[in-house]
This record gives sequence, structure tokens and C-alpha cells, in this order.
Amino acid sequence: MDPVRHQRRALGFLSGILAKNNVAHALVFTGDAGLGKKQAAEHFAMARNCEGTPDPESAMFGDQGPCGVCGSCRKILSGNHPDVLFVEKDGVSVKIAQVRALLSVLAMRPSEAKIRVVVITDAGAMTPESSNALLKALEEPSETTCFVLLAGQKSELLPTVVSRCQEIRFSPLPVSFLVQSLEARGVDRDLGQACALLAGGSLDNALELASEQGLARRNWLINQICALEDQGMGQALLLAEFLARDKKAAQDDLNWIRTWLRDLLVSQYAPQHVINKDLMGLVTSRAKKISPESLLDRLQAVTDCEKDLARNVNTRLSMETLCLRLSSGG
Ligand SMILES: [Zn+2]
Repeated sequence: MDPVRHQRRALGFLSGILAKNNVAHALVFTGDAGLGKKQAAEHFAMARNCEGTPDPESAMFGDQGPCGVCGSCRKILSGNHPDVLFVEKDGVSVKIAQVRALLSVLAMRPSEAKIRVVVITDAGAMTPESSNALLKALEEPSETTCFVLLAGQKSELLPTVVSRCQEIRFSPLPVSFLVQSLEARGVDRDLGQACALLAGGSLDNALELASEQGLARRNWLINQICALEDQGMGQALLLAEFLARDKKAAQDDLNWIRTWLRDLLVSQYAPQHVINKDLMGLVTSRAKKISPESLLDRLQAVTDCEKDLARNVNTRLSMETLCLRLSSGG
């Protein structure tokens, strides 16, 4: 039930650069949360430091994969390797103090690893100050340190950061895998089907939808957004006020709005790419036909709002701007 095992293209690419020993000193893994990026980064750190012999049958990246049982692999798997560092956001952003602390560690030699691996798990949540501080490290490649940045999409990062990283894209997971994963966790089959279809290929999303109130909240939200079309500014501001009451919930809501807009875009304008026909009815039933330009504008509004929240712009103001843009078509 490993989501990352469905990332054949990304894993194939990683095993290729490992085989040629041609690994850039900074990589960025892009794709939604819940596609296996973090697990791939962990195994990549293991592969670069493995002291054993990989078993191609069980190891990720085939014969370039880590053994999973040597001292180094075990330490990484248990989160206890001193030279494999995970930097997660603190609150809503990766703060400058975190990057400064990281840089002071990087100024020293790795204590035991061949290659120290720094994984910034929420690279899209770096503030401009944090990004610029990190940039210094990216500009001075070290033989012994490799960076792996995890982000939803490249546009979340400063262009100067992106230009120093090699991008590896992670794909949406198959609906059938999501259905199986939910069933294995005891989710009812019909509910599991609906959640898997609406999850945008992300296991995290599917699990969230299948949780108590998950699907109901998502459906309520999408109904509200659809209704904004006919209700004008006053209703948009009321909805914004309601959504802004809980910042964490607001961030989840943004995820659902984005997933829905993307599904709409594909099902209305590129139906040949819809993986599962059941999705079309589920997604478009309540939505009016919106032009592709307007859908892209609305997606941009979601991205802008996420950035504002990460930058600590007032939540109510951010959500008001979002709801007005969603109601007016950009
Ligand atoms: Zn190993």
C-alpha cells in the first residue's frame, strides 16, 4: 500500500541519475501532498548512503535502491540519522530562523553520512527571506550535501531557487489504488469510490474526504462556491468571513477548491484525459460551464490566497479577496 510505488516515472528517473552518479546537488519534487514525495525523498537519502546490497525486488529504485536493513538505512527510516535533515514548516511557514539554524549545521562536516541530505518538506511555504537565505547554500554547491525540496508546484518557489534545482514531477495516483487504500482502512466501498474520485489523485486527500465530515464539508464548500455566481458580493463576503474563522480549515478548503477547479478544467475541456468517467458527473453536476481562461484565473486566485496565508496576510482579508475573485470569474 505504498503510494510512492505508483510513481514509476519519478522513481525511474531517480534510479537513472543514481546509476549514472549524475545527481544534481539540489532536486525539487513537485506534486500535491499525498503522492509519496516525502517517502521518495527518504528512500533517496537512504540510497545515497546505503552500506548494504540492495535487493532489487524489494528496494525502491531497483538495483540502485537502498537495502533498508544496514545501519545507515535503519537510522534514516527511524528518523535518527544525524545527517539526514527534514525541515518542516513552523506554523504556516518555513521561517528564516529555521533556515539560519540549518545553515549553521551545514557549515560543519557531516558526522557520518557520505552525502548529507536536507529535505525541505514544505518548500512552498518558505518566506521570501527564508528562500533568499537558502539560496546562499544552493549557490555554493557542496560535494557532501544534497538538497531535496518538496513543493506542490514550481511556481510556489522563487525563480532563483527553481533555477538551481532539477525538477522531478510526481503524478496523481490511480483511482483504483486510492479505492483499495480506503477499503484497507475499513472505509465503506461506495463512500471510498466517491472519495477516491474527488481526491485529485492524492492519498492524503482521499483519507481526509473519507474522514468524519470530510466529504460533507468538501461538498458543502463546492456548493457555496457554485452559488456565488448568482449571489453577488454580499454573499461572497459572508462566505469569506465564515471560512476565515479557522485558518487551518481555510487552508484545507483552498486545497478542495483547487482540486475541484482542476477537475472541472479537465472534465470540461480535456475530457479525453479524465481517468474515470464517473468523475465527470460528480464534478460537473452543480457547476455552470466556465471558460477555460476564467477557470485558470480562479486557480490563480487560490494559489495567490495560499501564498498570502503563508505570508501571514490577514486571513479574513485573504479569504475576501479569494471569494470575490471566485464569484466574478477572476
Ligand atoms: Zn542500506
